[in-house]
Amino acid sequence: MHPLRTLILAAGANDAVRRLVATAPVSRDVVRRFVAGESTDDVVAVTARLVDDGLSVSLDYLGEDTSDELVAEQNVQAYLRLLDRLHTDGLSAHAEASVKLSSIGQALDERLALDNASRIAAAAEQCGTTITLDMEDHSTTDSTLRVLAELRRTWPWVGAVLQAYLRRTLDDCVALAGSGSRVRLCKGAYAEPASVAFAHPHEVDLSYVRCANALLAGRGYPMFATHDPRLVAVIAERALWYGRKPGSYEYQMLYGIRPDEQRRLVNSGEAVRVYVPYGEQWYGYLMRRLAERPANTAFFLRSLAGRS
Ligand SMILES: Cc1cc2nc3c(=O)[nH]c(=O)nc-3n(C[C@H](O)[C@H](O)[C@H](O)COP(=O)(O)OP(=O)(O)OC[C@H]3O[C@@H](n4cnc5c(N)ncnc54)[C@H](O)[C@@H]3O)c2cc1C
Repeated sequence: MHPLRTLILAAGANDAVRRLVATAPVSRDVVRRFVAGESTDDVVAVTARLVDDGLSVSLDYLGEDTSDELVAEQNVQAYLRLLDRLHTDGLSAHAEASVKLSSIGQALDERLALDNASRIAAAAEQCGTTITLDMEDHSTTDSTLRVLAELRRTWPWVGAVLQAYLRRTLDDCVALAGSGSRVRLCKGAYAEPASVAFAHPHEVDLSYVRCANALLAGRGYPMFATHDPRLVAVIAERALWYGRKPGSYEYQMLYGIRPDEQRRLVNSGEAVRVYVPYGEQWYGYLMRRLAERPANTAFFLRSLAGRS
C-alpha cells in the first residue's frame, strides 16, 4: 500500500485526529464535498439537485461492521425512512439505495442480514425503486452472494457489486451476467492479501477490462463504477463493439468526484448514476476517499489551514 495511504488510514483510526476533524468548524464544508449531509432531509435535497441535472443516484446510509442488533435495526429504519421520502418527493424513479450487509447484521448472523435486506427490498419495491448490495472485504463475498441469490428469488432487480481486484471475479461476472441481472463492477476498495487479489494496479485494470467484456457480452445490466478516464474510454469502445446502446448499461461515480466528467457523460447521452453517502458515520468514509487520492488530502488540509 502507498505510504501516504497508510498514514491517512492510521490518522483516521486515531481518536484525537477524529475529534479534531469532526469538530473543526471548517470540516463541515469540506465534508460536504463528498458526503451529502447527516439527515434524510440533507440527502433528499442533494438527490433532487442531481436528478435535475439528469443524473441518477444510489444512496448509501453510512455505517458498517455493526455488531449490535439494535444498531442494525436503526440502520434498517434509516433506509425505510429514506425510501419513503424518495417516494413522497417523486424521486424514486431516479434514486435507489446501496446497502452494506455488514451495517444490517451480517457479522452477527447471515440470516438476520437477509431478513433485514428483505425488508429494505420490499420497501424499495413499494416505493418504485431498487437496491444494490455493496461488496465489502473478501471474507464476506460468498455470504453476500448467497444473500443476493436469496433476495433475487423475490426481487430479481437487486443489484450486485463485483470487485475487479479479486482473482475470482471474472467467474462471478460470467455467473451473474444473465438476463435482468444488475451488476456494478468496481476495482475494489479494501486491503486484500495477494492470495485472493491482484496486487498491481495494472493487473487490476486488466481484470476490470476482462470483467467488463464478460458483463457487456451477457444479457444483464452492467453498471461501471470507476473514475478512471482510461477505463471509461475502454468501456465506451467495448459497449459499441458489443452493440450496447446507451441506457443498456450505466456509468457510476462517487459524489464529489469528477463531477464535470459525470455531466459530460450525461450530455453525451450516457446513463450516469452518482453514489451519494450520507449519515452521521461520515468520518471513516471521508478518510478512505482522502487515502485513495493525495490531491483530495491536499484540498482538505488547505481548507483546514485556510479558514481555521
Ligand atoms: C459508484 C461506486 C460504487 C462503489 N462501490 C464499491 C463497493 O461496493 N465495494 C468496493 O470495494 N468498492 C466500491 N467502490 C470503490 C472502488 O472499488 C474504488 O476503490 C474507487 O472507485 C477508486 O477506483 P477508480 O476506479 O475510481 O480508480 P483509481 O485507480 O482510484 O483511479 C484511477 C484514475 O481515476 C481518476 N481519479 C480517481 N479518483 C479521482 C479523483 N478524486 N479526482 C479526479 N480523478 C480521479 C484518476 O485519473 C486516477 O488516476 C465504488 C466506487 C464507485 C465509483
